Amino acid sequence: MSEALANLLNETRQFPPPAALAAQANVTADAYDEAGADRLAFWERQAGRLAWARPWDEVLDWSNPPFAKWFVGGQLNVAYNCLDRHVEAGNGDRVAIHWEGEPGDTRTLTYADLHRLTCQAANALTDLGVVAGDRVAIYLPMIPEAAVAMLACARIGATHSVVFGGFSADALSNRISDASAKVVITADGGYRRGKPSALKPTVDEAVANCPSIEHVLVVRRTGEEVAWSAKDHWWHEAVEAASAEHVAQPFDAEHPLFILYTSGTTARPKGILHTTGGYLTQAAWTAHAVFDLKPETDVYWCTADIGWVTGHSYIVYGPLANGATQVMYEGTPDTPHKGRFWEIVDKYKVSILYTAPTLIRTMMKWGDDIPAGFDLSSLRLLGSVGEPINPEAWMWYRQHVGRGELPIVDTWWQTETGAIMISPLPGVTATKPGSAMTPLPGVVADVVDDQGQSVPNGGGGYLVLREPWPSMLRTIWGDDNRFIETYWSRFEGMYFAGDGAKKDDDGHIWLLGRVDDVMLVSGHNISTTEVESALVSHPSVAEAAVVGATDPTTGQAIVAFAIPRGTTDISGEAGERLITELRNHVAKTLGPIAKPRQIMLVPELPKTRSGKIMRRLLRDVAENRSLGDVTTLQDSSVMELISSGLSGGKSDED
Ligand code: ATP
Ligand code: MG
Repeated sequence: MSEALANLLNETRQFPPPAALAAQANVTADAYDEAGADRLAFWERQAGRLAWARPWDEVLDWSNPPFAKWFVGGQLNVAYNCLDRHVEAGNGDRVAIHWEGEPGDTRTLTYADLHRLTCQAANALTDLGVVAGDRVAIYLPMIPEAAVAMLACARIGATHSVVFGGFSADALSNRISDASAKVVITADGGYRRGKPSALKPTVDEAVANCPSIEHVLVVRRTGEEVAWSAKDHWWHEAVEAASAEHVAQPFDAEHPLFILYTSGTTARPKGILHTTGGYLTQAAWTAHAVFDLKPETDVYWCTADIGWVTGHSYIVYGPLANGATQVMYEGTPDTPHKGRFWEIVDKYKVSILYTAPTLIRTMMKWGDDIPAGFDLSSLRLLGSVGEPINPEAWMWYRQHVGRGELPIVDTWWQTETGAIMISPLPGVTATKPGSAMTPLPGVVADVVDDQGQSVPNGGGGYLVLREPWPSMLRTIWGDDNRFIETYWSRFEGMYFAGDGAKKDDDGHIWLLGRVDDVMLVSGHNISTTEVESALVSHPSVAEAAVVGATDPTTGQAIVAFAIPRGTTDISGEAGERLITELRNHVAKTLGPIAKPRQIMLVPELPKTRSGKIMRRLLRDVAENRSLGDVTTLQDSSVMELISSGLSGGKSDED
């Protein structure tokens, strides 16, 4: 039988956890033994970290797979767990959010402030007729009201559907319609790249096609002029007029908490449904375990947008359930200068930073001197999420952000999984650059071949989850069949995540990108991730994307797009020399089978709005086709840049 996915990259560096962190770590190696001995008892103990109004009768009901029920019969209120209980414990004065606006304006919200605002917003939503079970769309910039809106919905049992503020009117109206949302919460606009960027006109256009919308609640952020209709209400009027008294009612553990549409890099957006008790249990425990979050002393910063699942689980629910202090930033990393992130770390003395490989590679491209210009000594732990992190980007992160000594947690999970699934534990795991390492305690992940058989160490294949987990998606909103079809039908009795992975010789897991992107070259299944990582391991390359293009002799041939680092000379012959060198470098690192047929040096890569490389469009370029759908691109001019920059960048010899 042929291999499911080749294992070409060999990484030997390994970094034990810092002794001081290990000695104080929230979670130790015992957790693996405990969960291994009794997985459900382990999750039951983590659920016990929350405040329940009624205890559960049964930990897991898995009698009707794949429809799981966790903490059956239990009742709790998510907002109570994120706010009230911290205030009641005497921590109302603790800062919940240090907010930094892009223009440099700031706001500080304590837990008492956030609690008061959430109660007022809950009352305002109730006054607008929103009741438990209704859906509320949220289309906001990165301002504190985004968190307040989500918590207010949770508080009254309304199901929120956050739509990323960069999406178009069409994307917004499709999502509103799919969920039949009754209210949309938005703003006049937010600040992006140094100027106000309007949101309200997009909402107006979307709402015109959404008869389900009864009210639009509008936060004033930019103060720009907006059109006004009978459905519109100013947030500051409705919320400020509302009472700050609100008693949170408990909801069933399986009450719908939110719908989040996956970004749609692959197909028609799916409304991923998450519920209450299991979701909060795992979001809260993973924030505690993976980030080693110490609410009394840490300043945590997750750079994701609230529009993505990372913003849900690791800006709102996970950190707040733990009573943490965090930074929230409105804008882009290069406004007004390329050191803005490091300036924020320095200013707020951030101790835990959670960001994405795309940002790390961008920082590599901008140059080492930028982080070096700031005091980053407050940092003690670094995290990564969203894509496989290339070993060289991991090393750069450790070296230039982590002073060559900080632990990095590479966290694998998805919108569908709700919370982190595969990751190092920072006080336990000796990490390897580029590997997400091992499933967390209580998570049963595996890599299987085409037949669903576990691959041996050293083998590659499909990443699956063999057992249900508390924060798992419960269905696709309104489409149980698509839920079964999409996630549970490829392998009998297993959740298939869509990602390729391998186990190294020690059994550690390496994510190898989406299986849809895998290239079939002369009978070998080669992962895009491994070839990209080989390119990024060359000192002249900051970022790379690789695709398989139809080839008459090999079936598919590897075509690579590479972004040079800071000062690299790529003009004329120097560019040609670099391309030859890079092709040889890949062949030497991974073997001749992985040598790209062609490499193009480009200034930018097409990315989704959450910053992930969009290989589909590059495949169109590589195969000289006209471009497919570009509407989910972050910046549609990138494809013109790439196409126009191609001449002189090609190399077709041998
Ligand atoms: P869509 O499903 O709509 O195409 P998406 O998969 O990008 O969008 P998310 O749920 O935000 O939406 O992303 C989850 C995916 O991101 C994972 O399936 C995986 O491909 C990738 N990913 C996330 N974290 C990691 C990681 N640490 N290492 C490797 N890949 C990761
Ligand atoms: Mg996905």
